[in-house]
Amino acid sequence: MSRLAPAADRAYFAAFLDLRGKPGVVVGGGAVAALKAEALLRSGVRLTVIAPELCPRLAELTLFGVLRHEARRFQPGDLVGAEIAMAATDDPAVNASVSAAARALKIPVNVADDTAASSFIVMDGPVADLALSGNERAAETALEEKLREDGKAGGGFVSLVGAGPGDPELLTLRALRVMQRADAVLYDHLVAPALVDLARRDAERVYVGKEKDNHALGQDKINALMVRLARAGKRVVRLKGGDPFIFGRGGEEIESLAEQGIPFEVVPGVTAASGASSYAGIPLTHRDYAHACVFATGHLRNGAAQLDWTSLVRPKQTIVVYMGVGALAAICAGLIEHGLAAATPAALVETATLPQQRVIQGTLRTLPGLATHAGVKPPALLIAGEVVRLRSRLAWFEGVAGQFTAAAHGHRRLT
Ligand code: SAH
Repeated sequence: MSRLAPAADRAYFAAFLDLRGKPGVVVGGGAVAALKAEALLRSGVRLTVIAPELCPRLAELTLFGVLRHEARRFQPGDLVGAEIAMAATDDPAVNASVSAAARALKIPVNVADDTAASSFIVMDGPVADLALSGNERAAETALEEKLREDGKAGGGFVSLVGAGPGDPELLTLRALRVMQRADAVLYDHLVAPALVDLARRDAERVYVGKEKDNHALGQDKINALMVRLARAGKRVVRLKGGDPFIFGRGGEEIESLAEQGIPFEVVPGVTAASGASSYAGIPLTHRDYAHACVFATGHLRNGAAQLDWTSLVRPKQTIVVYMGVGALAAICAGLIEHGLAAATPAALVETATLPQQRVIQGTLRTLPGLATHAGVKPPALLIAGEVVRLRSRLAWFEGVAGQFTAAAHGHRRLT
């Protein structure tokens, strides 16, 4: 993206646009387009992204319902009615046609890395220019002060924060408080955009999301960035989906902070199992059906799920499997093979707690086929055990979810 480095032969007029609630268009589906899209969303733009395919971050923003995706190539008519347009495709011809169409309609347009094709340039550049603000910091909480006394980080501090499973309302008050004091927020894949929006207005927001085989920023780089920011005296929030200590690698991340003598705290979050359980109407324990509940990961290694089957198939126990969509058939078959009845009730909860939550319910025998048929995609959680039956009486969320979205859209600032 263009930094604030106007070409010498152009005199730019610096201004701040009020785009709240205004329609805007981003053309392009890659990582640069994602940065542009997030910047516009943060300014309250009602955004449409036009691209045949989306990078994981844009796909996720679409999933969270904060933008509209048109899965096709750009056509000049797409800009009619828009009040701002940005192009970030890797095809110069497409970028040029966005620029031409915008200029014809007198819509402000920015083309990534092309000042000549842009009618405006933007100030941005997360990650790269995390310049120190010389501002005095507000008074610290007693806890932070105490932690800092032991630290050598020059005032910097990292809060590893659980963001909950999706519904922004499930954030803890503690998490909200640290977000509102943050100088920088490093957030992951599966963190609701509305939550990132809760960070202090001038906090840096850096997407470092990880998805299988698709790292916006490698783990070493994330660790190094946290250390660098903390050393520069920043209050860093490392925001992770669900609970940071449940399949979140939170432990690994703060180990590196501990090694470097950077003070930190951990703020728990509602883990996906809790979110899915509540919003699907499936209690994880029950006096009659389940006296224990086990969380396992279905992540495949060398094509096989690494599960301790004997500990999973105990009687009167609910099994929750994270990251199990890919290996669902193998997991269900394994549970049957190791002694669970094929008729054991089982459910997959997809995008739990979000308005588009779906619950696919069956048995260990039928669920894989039902899931394939329904086209279930991650994030989804497998819950197996007798408690799944209770859902027929306890489901409450689906159906009302539509009303929630309508209500939320009324007052929510989109991010
Ligand atoms: N730390 C997170 C888990 C990270 S592992 C937590 O405590 O929830 C990522 C897995 O969590 C996904 O593959 C999926 O199995 C589960 N998950 C996260 N969010 C989810 C959601 N909204 N609905 C269903 N499953 C979810």
